[in-house]
Amino acid sequence: MTPSTEVGRPRDYRRIACEEGFATAELLAANARLGDIGVPLLTLDGPAKHLARALLDTDARLAAMDRDGVDMQLLMVSAPGVQVFPPAEASALARSINDEVSDLCRRMPDRFAALAAVAPHDPRAAAAEIERAVTRLGLRGAVVNSHTDGVYLDDEASFPLLEALEALRVPLYIHPRDAPAPMRPFFQGPAVAGASWEYAVEVGTHLLRMIGAGVFDRFPRLTVVVGHMGEGLPFWLPRIDNRYQASVHGARTAELLPSEYLRRQVFVTTSGMNYEAPLRLTLDVLGRDRVLYASDYPFEEQGPAVEAVERMSLEAGERRAIFETNAVRVFGL
Ligand code: MN
Repeated sequence: MTPSTEVGRPRDYRRIACEEGFATAELLAANARLGDIGVPLLTLDGPAKHLARALLDTDARLAAMDRDGVDMQLLMVSAPGVQVFPPAEASALARSINDEVSDLCRRMPDRFAALAAVAPHDPRAAAAEIERAVTRLGLRGAVVNSHTDGVYLDDEASFPLLEALEALRVPLYIHPRDAPAPMRPFFQGPAVAGASWEYAVEVGTHLLRMIGAGVFDRFPRLTVVVGHMGEGLPFWLPRIDNRYQASVHGARTAELLPSEYLRRQVFVTTSGMNYEAPLRLTLDVLGRDRVLYASDYPFEEQGPAVEAVERMSLEAGERRAIFETNAVRVFGL
């Protein structure tokens, strides 16, 4: 790797990274107790124990942030979070995770902010926990690690959670996880599984299902954030709009075109996608007010991600918007 020259350059904006993973020791122990349920779970003695350790280690995290020139991380519980546990246990784990992460944010408010963990399959409790986490713990919204047992947030049973977010004017982050069980056989192999392709298809599908079900008509002030440059959706938008408008696959169900909801209610983060062409496309398609920087720590390397975005030829104002001001506005930092 070439030596870093941009990371330490003097600058007049903060770098805020908006999709940064963490876990608690309690959650990792609970994962270990679940055993093999056909879903990849991080544990302290599993094959990815270095990642599990990195999720817990605040000192290492701060050292990496100082080294890589990241001023602040927005923390969210790593996939699949609490969503693989039975509803009551998932809700109890979420509360405990939120207590723990809010302590860290209170101790270092200029380094850390966080989103609330919630159990979407326990919707009333999830709504109550969002309220508690935002109004009493100071968390900045909520994260769901996409589907819960194959159920997406276009399911009316989940609406109490969306109502709570909209009422509090805080965003929902839809973070990737492995595909639901019926889809899993199709997402096998080194070019397809996980972050190669599976995650993008899974989260893109989640968001389009919400759009197609009219969720954004029902909740016109809800905001949703997705990572990885919009999980491919900015690239596909003209084709999605075109088929939707022509009702090729069924009558239109939402008032606006899919692209209009994206430009009205959706924000995207870079999350370790260190490529100028898709960033340029996303800025052009969604606008500079809708793109936020993320490192995806500790799953992607943070220093090269900062370096890559700093080296891209962005217009005046775009760099500050991506690194700082959009995050400040969207997450109330
Ligand atoms: Mn991530």
